[in-house]
Amino acid sequence: MGIVKCVGILTSGGDAPGMNAAIRAVTRAAIYNGLQVKGIYRGYRGLITDDIVEFKSQNVSNIIQLGGTILKTARCKEFTTPEGRKVAYETMQRHGIDALVIIGGDGSLTGARIFAQEHNVPCIGLPGTIDNDLYGTDTTIGYDTALNTILDAVDKIRDTATSHDRLFFVEVMGRDAGFLALNGAIASGAEAAIIPEFSTEVDQLEEFIKSGFRKSKNSSIVLVAESELTGGAMHYAERVKNEYPQYDVRVTILGHLQRGGSPTAHDRILASRLGAAAIDAIMEDQRNVMIGIENDEVVYVPFSKAIKNDKPIKRELVNVLRALSI
Ligand code: ADP
Repeated sequence: MGIVKCVGILTSGGDAPGMNAAIRAVTRAAIYNGLQVKGIYRGYRGLITDDIVEFKSQNVSNIIQLGGTILKTARCKEFTTPEGRKVAYETMQRHGIDALVIIGGDGSLTGARIFAQEHNVPCIGLPGTIDNDLYGTDTTIGYDTALNTILDAVDKIRDTATSHDRLFFVEVMGRDAGFLALNGAIASGAEAAIIPEFSTEVDQLEEFIKSGFRKSKNSSIVLVAESELTGGAMHYAERVKNEYPQYDVRVTILGHLQRGGSPTAHDRILASRLGAAAIDAIMEDQRNVMIGIENDEVVYVPFSKAIKNDKPIKRELVNVLRALSI
């Protein structure tokens, strides 16, 4: 193992608020520790097209508060092939980059794991996704901001739902994870959440209707996680229209607005801690780990663990929602 002198940093896959705070933290912590930093644009694609710029401290000034990613992000098909990854490795060598910090979700860290094995490159991952679906970290960069965006939207939908006595299905992001839907429902006082984790166990719509929500309430909001497993908000709205035609049903799909906006204090602090820890990990000669937070402590999670395991959702949260939505 050689000594790392130059770190490449990239953001990949879906963007998440707080990615810029992470870029800033990695860059500044690296420079603080005497390392050179290279910013790689558009995720893995930048390694293939050679879209790389040296980053000094000023390159990351005034970005901690910005959503999105100044490094841009992309989905890169070439990187999923050995030929593409070879080109990426040669580009790294030309630039003298001897370690990578990858900020992204499940897919990006899967790519990092394969690349690290194939070319013996130290790779450190940071969990950057609004979905909170990476195992081994209590929360991911962007999740808290997205959750707060959902609350803002649901609070507004509540006004019209109440005024018209309507049943609203609000679809939120999360891919195959229900964290945004379930915690969004608890925090917004919604009546129910339909999440992929329990889609094969019970008919969550049936449960909700049978809970007798109409006895005490004229309006209701149900958060539905986008997922093939749930079928999405439209699917449930259609079902209710057919099975319970007496209800006035509406659908709102929050979509990409959940990805944007200035990161919350929580996400900025998380991104700053994880970014600084990524450089600590490199200085300690760690490789092929994701940096996470568990019980407010920084932890190193091997890629294999972070990617392969499904992050469990707490049953207790389901019970809290059920008890408080009567
Ligand atoms: P996210 O990181 O948000 O989960 P994606 O799943 O789209 O986003 O992955 C981002 C990028 O990571 C892909 O476009 C690809 O370049 C790379 N990637 C994903 N899966 C693999 C894989 N199995 N092998 C190599 N690269 C991958």
